[in-house]
Amino acid sequence: MLVEIRAGIHAWVQPDGSWWLNNAGAITTEAGQLVVDTCATATRARRFLDALEAATGRAPKLAVNTHQHGDHTYGNSLLPAETVIIGQEKMREGLRVDPIIDGCPPFWSPVPDWGDVERRLPDVTVAEALTVHLGERRVELRHPGGPAHTTGDLVAWIPDERVLFTGDLVFAGLTPLVFMGSVTGALAAVDWLAAFQPEVVVPGHGPILSGDDIARVLDEHRRYYRLVLQAGADGIERGLSPLDAARGVDLDEFAGWADAERLVLNLHRFYADHDGKELELIAAFTDAVTYNGGPLPTRV
Ligand SMILES: [Zn+2]
Repeated sequence: MLVEIRAGIHAWVQPDGSWWLNNAGAITTEAGQLVVDTCATATRARRFLDALEAATGRAPKLAVNTHQHGDHTYGNSLLPAETVIIGQEKMREGLRVDPIIDGCPPFWSPVPDWGDVERRLPDVTVAEALTVHLGERRVELRHPGGPAHTTGDLVAWIPDERVLFTGDLVFAGLTPLVFMGSVTGALAAVDWLAAFQPEVVVPGHGPILSGDDIARVLDEHRRYYRLVLQAGADGIERGLSPLDAARGVDLDEFAGWADAERLVLNLHRFYADHDGKELELIAAFTDAVTYNGGPLPTRV
């Protein structure tokens, strides 16, 4: 669903925002168009780009990936060949070595079929900040300063309109995921996001936020990350595995959120950082599937 949030600022929202169903968007002026993220599959990326072209009459001059995950990047190859893609430098490296685009492991049901996509990496990389000028309109691409959702996150901030595309630093009404980033970094990034004082937030997943909902959703993220930190510290103290630590957690106010098994993945991140080790991706997902009682549901 394409929503014009402000004149020339569009969000592409894919309900219900669960696994692989991301949000994207675009900023368009007479001087050109910047696309923010693509989608997981060729079909979904094509649907987004066709709707955008129908609404704006323009082809994207530039695109930015908010992070490396496939739901935001696999559709890059559906962009016109001449579109210049921007990403954080660690994001580019992450997508370069991503194995899931070549064949999705059976952790989800049904197993996603990406369709006719190719790995397409950013042409331009950013370390901390880059400003895109679309005529008079500024779009500021900013990195939170450390690992958060992933190691290579970027937000897109349109200061004139106080619109913030957060990528997966925000999951509105769904379980946040930080297994490729940092629990403490994601918690710190919530304050960093709040400091923009946005009027409209386009999260990486879930509905567009405005007004009081922004502070409410950011507070939910703070409480959720503190829950993960507490569960991780308790689990380590009691000698529990990440899976057993997760099983002992009362999700309480978060019990209604989709993709609850991400708690297991998030605890794997907490344990890996605590132990100073690399996260074991296959072991983490295997535990998440066990916690869920079967493969993780998806609709892509
Ligand atoms: Zn993500």
